[in-house]
Amino acid sequence: MSNCKFIDTHSHLDGEEFAADRDAVVQRAREAGCARIFLPAIDAASCQTVLDVCRQYPDYCLPMLGLHPEEVRDDWRDQLAQIKSLLTPPSTLLAIGEIGLDYYWSREFEQQQLEAFEEQVRWAVDMQLPLMIHCRKAQNELVAILKKYVKDLPGGVFHCFTGNEQEARQLLEFPRFVLGIGGVSTFKKSHLPEVLPACVPLDRIVLETDAPYMAPVPMRGQRNESSFIRHIITRLAQAYQVSEETICEETNKNVARVFGIQI
Ligand SMILES: [Zn+2]
Repeated sequence: MSNCKFIDTHSHLDGEEFAADRDAVVQRAREAGCARIFLPAIDAASCQTVLDVCRQYPDYCLPMLGLHPEEVRDDWRDQLAQIKSLLTPPSTLLAIGEIGLDYYWSREFEQQQLEAFEEQVRWAVDMQLPLMIHCRKAQNELVAILKKYVKDLPGGVFHCFTGNEQEARQLLEFPRFVLGIGGVSTFKKSHLPEVLPACVPLDRIVLETDAPYMAPVPMRGQRNESSFIRHIITRLAQAYQVSEETICEETNKNVARVFGIQI
């Protein structure tokens, strides 16, 4: 593959899965052409580990802070208070995330998820920071909340998009938002290679791993890492029938527009 540069917009590089060899993972990412890695938090404790890792790799790893929907429980207000105290000063903070709704496993905390999500959307509006959004089995509910703020939303990413054309169109109605495309696009049964070129223009996607999860083919089943994005670039270039350089250039432009990060 060409030596074009790209950005991993979503990696849980602070996770314990990387505790033993994080330096080597970052080294391989740099060698593969990964110019930045964005790290989402999932709860108050992980905000600290995300900030720690970002301090270890300054100007390379950039932090996003928020409460993930699967981590929303009865203590969600306390979690949000702790996270909010970390949002100032905002100079190094890239985005609010990852936040959203997830009813895949359980609806036990459905109401709390809705409230926690909306509160964090209001933070993003107040601070004019982009959003890193996680959504599973809850798109209609999520869209309903975002619509209330559509005029003031600074933009963001619908991360790990795996939906159909109708779902893509519904999300792309939010201006300044893009879809995060990862390893699923390389899976044999994925319909993304047809859905994306049919209804998602190249100026509406960014690249991501969601490491350590969602490793692309031919690494499927292994621990994912940012260097593996090259396989996603190859698959997307085939799907859109453009060069790999074009995939890198277009997604880098989209990252610059949404996050204000130039490489
Ligand atoms: Zn994630």
